[in-house]
Amino acid sequence: MSFQSGRHFLQIPGPTNVPDRILRAIDRPTIDHRGPDFKDMVFDVLDGLKSVFKTSGRVIVYPASGTGAWEAALVNTLSPGDRVLMFETGHFATLWRALAERLGLEVDFLPGDWRRGADADEIGAKLEDDKNHRIKAVCVVHNETSTGITSRIADIRQAIDANRHPALFMVDTISSLASMDYRHDQWGVDVTVGGSQKGLMLPPGLSFNAASEKALAASNSAACVKAYWSWDEMLKTNETGFFPYTPATNLLYGLRESLRMLDEEGLDNVFMRHARHGEATRRAVSAWGLEIIPRDDREYSNSLTAVLMPEGHDADAFRKIILERYNMSLGNGLGKLAGRVFRIGHLGAFNDLMLAGTLAGVEMGLSLANVPHNIGGVEAAMKFMMQSVTTEQGGGELTRASA
Ligand SMILES: *Cc1c(COP(=O)(O)O)cnc(C)c1O
Repeated sequence: MSFQSGRHFLQIPGPTNVPDRILRAIDRPTIDHRGPDFKDMVFDVLDGLKSVFKTSGRVIVYPASGTGAWEAALVNTLSPGDRVLMFETGHFATLWRALAERLGLEVDFLPGDWRRGADADEIGAKLEDDKNHRIKAVCVVHNETSTGITSRIADIRQAIDANRHPALFMVDTISSLASMDYRHDQWGVDVTVGGSQKGLMLPPGLSFNAASEKALAASNSAACVKAYWSWDEMLKTNETGFFPYTPATNLLYGLRESLRMLDEEGLDNVFMRHARHGEATRRAVSAWGLEIIPRDDREYSNSLTAVLMPEGHDADAFRKIILERYNMSLGNGLGKLAGRVFRIGHLGAFNDLMLAGTLAGVEMGLSLANVPHNIGGVEAAMKFMMQSVTTEQGGGELTRASA
């Protein structure tokens, strides 16, 4: 590709733009991970993570992508042949299912059309039928990154409780953690899976398991084979501020900085910022006359928006034009949505002008690719951003002037 001036716009829904503060934090000498300076950082980071997951329990950090933490959640709590209930929200739910099956678990996959979130009523009905409690875990993707659909986790918890079902509850928050409200303890989640490269604004390479007491108890009898992913060694060594093997030291520097930044902004303000950018993006898409994937407005994702290409237009050709002309990467369609969908990431280190620039790139791209649309999407987003203000400190109320 020819020389591109200025900054690349990395508007895929993860990895996200890594802020300079985090890059600078990472750009320091690697220290002895068994030396005296290391443990203070570890205590700092493990403590800070608790506020992000909203848990008073343990959070485990792996030097791995999110997929590793998926595997860790399952092998630490389950035994081969155990039945697991999952819901087909989209591509990532489908991948988690395939991983579970490879581990020897029996997956009951509730079918979905990739345009709705995990249905609490359907999950409840399955659990009600499961009188002998053969289902050992319910696994749900909180924010399905292939479709921009957010499932309502508290409702699913209620469905489990209403049936007094003892199954563990596991939730993938890889593309929602630190972007959208999430409450590990309050929502009674047993294992929450997270990753570094989305809302936490870090490069790829770290992933997380937040574990409840119930999950820790299950780990004592879980018979899935594990070594590297084993929680027990990790938890024991973490108590002294260390890791059982070499951790990703420099990414931990970055994580410490990320947690500081989230704390300075305030998590509620972070969520509000994402909510504003989600709404502004949806207004732009609607002004263009294009369609987003989610059908239910209670399930709109605030970290990304997946847009359906009009019939006969190739989403990948469109993304290629935008990359070459405007130096911006948009997310591709995944799985059965390949070529039919493009995804706009609006999560992580992001602000109003970055969103305006992103949407301008999309709008110009639509014209260049001769995709039928109305102009005025950027304008609709700008108007919404001007009229909606967040309260200055810890407010959390989105003031929305009528458009
Ligand atoms: C990105 C993502 C994953 C995969 O994580 P990797 O870091 O690529 O292994 C899993 N689930 C969701 C919801 C994601 O957004």
